[in-house]
Amino acid sequence: MDFFKDYTLTIDGQAATSAATLEVINPANEQVIARVPDASREQLDAAVAAAKRAFPAWSALPLAERQRYVARIGDAIERHAEDFMKLLTLEQGKARQGAEWEIGGAAIWCHEIAKQELPLHVVEDSGTRRVETRRVPLGVVGGITPWNFPVLLAIWKIAPALVAGNTMVLKPSPYTPLTTLKLGELLRGVLPDGVLNIVSGGNELGAWITAHPDIAKVSFTGSTATGRKIMESASGNLKRITLELGGNDPAIVLPDVDVEEVAEKLFWASFQNSAQFCVAAKRLYVHEDIYDDLAKALVAYAKTVQVGDGALPQTQLGPIQNRMQFEKLKNLLADAKANKLRFLLGGDIPDQPGYLVPITLIDNPPDDSRVVREEAFGPVLPLLKFKDVDEVVARANDTEYGLAASVWSRDVEAARQVAERIDAGTVWINEIHTFSPHVAFGGRKQSGIGIENALEGLAEYTAVQTLAINRAQASDAGRKAA
Ligand code: NAD
Repeated sequence: MDFFKDYTLTIDGQAATSAATLEVINPANEQVIARVPDASREQLDAAVAAAKRAFPAWSALPLAERQRYVARIGDAIERHAEDFMKLLTLEQGKARQGAEWEIGGAAIWCHEIAKQELPLHVVEDSGTRRVETRRVPLGVVGGITPWNFPVLLAIWKIAPALVAGNTMVLKPSPYTPLTTLKLGELLRGVLPDGVLNIVSGGNELGAWITAHPDIAKVSFTGSTATGRKIMESASGNLKRITLELGGNDPAIVLPDVDVEEVAEKLFWASFQNSAQFCVAAKRLYVHEDIYDDLAKALVAYAKTVQVGDGALPQTQLGPIQNRMQFEKLKNLLADAKANKLRFLLGGDIPDQPGYLVPITLIDNPPDDSRVVREEAFGPVLPLLKFKDVDEVVARANDTEYGLAASVWSRDVEAARQVAERIDAGTVWINEIHTFSPHVAFGGRKQSGIGIENALEGLAEYTAVQTLAINRAQASDAGRKAA
């Protein structure tokens, strides 16, 4: 199998091409690297029909067998890790260290989710009656993923959906379909036909998935704007939905931190994956006593970081993934300049092929400026000065988002008191981005609905079935027969 050519859909365990195709571009130089199928509506229907046919046998397998299959997905990713990492950098732009984190993580997730099991809950078990609630799969699940972590976020959906007994149709972002299509190809020999179907196409294909009458649930990661559309379109057959959406995460730095030590951590908290990270620290609130020192330390550290083509070994941060996002960032920077915001670093986009945006730090802009209100989703970070805790908590919470946050202090108890007041699904204290297959992750407010990872995440791929068994009847019948 060649990872670098011949990209095909996977429908019912078979390769499929389509008449229409989409171009895929390397964001480091804007060159076309591949063309992929733009699946037709009939091909989506065929993929859903295949998943529907595969469902009875797959869901009837003992849990341990489905778990073994999912662990084998992890094995397959590990065996081909090097190809996956190279292809991921080529299509997504990320640097080597980021590709290692993502592909390594995808394999770990498969192996760990494969150990999970939802407990049977026995509510009553008396001589005459037994009442239990058990978790049953939903049927065909539609997965829709974004372009920032195409492999890992696909696995976050595939692994629990399959362990829970569902079959699946998954669509990657049109910007980064290559690694996901190759994952589908690789798994043709690993999973039974029809259990996992991979279809590439544009946004329209996503909309067809969310409206499809034979899809029972959609699990989506992407922007809040698309999340709203999905919620609407899923209403047709009352689809279950899990929505992992945008964020505008605050990081709050209390005055007692060791400035030098924390500066490097805060840098990566904000700029990892070139800040194309739903949970990147996107607003950095720094206590006024240490603001100048921390700003200086951040600038100094940022100047040591290599930004460039992710395929080059020295690169630490790659380009922005696509032109749409690149233009959005240009516009945001133009707005910052028009409003005379002060730049501590960066701000000027070089005129060259590729979507490179330099690391940009903005000095204490007003709270109502666009760089503070909007999710930049790129390496443009506002540093914001605060005086006291009540004030910073109110400012941190003043957003429609509620994905994650972080608090930094030597006094863990003081940090905890701040953390508990933040309206966010995850709040990290003195660390950040420590995800685990066994730790629940989900957004509050307009950052999402539902949970991924942990048993709560697995449960989202199931329905509750209550079995209420009256044994009195059985014993009456037994007595009569005797
Ligand atoms: P996007 O919403 O534009 O696209 C995501 C996916 O949805 C793509 O596959 C796209 O083709 C598909 N899509 C687009 N329109 C659709 C429609 N009408 N119906 C169904 N599907 C449709 O998001 P993006 O730009 O790819 O990703 C960036 C966003 O994702 C950011 O806002 C980021 O914060 C968010 N994100 C969230 C998480 C999380 O876990 N909360 C993780 C990563 C990214």
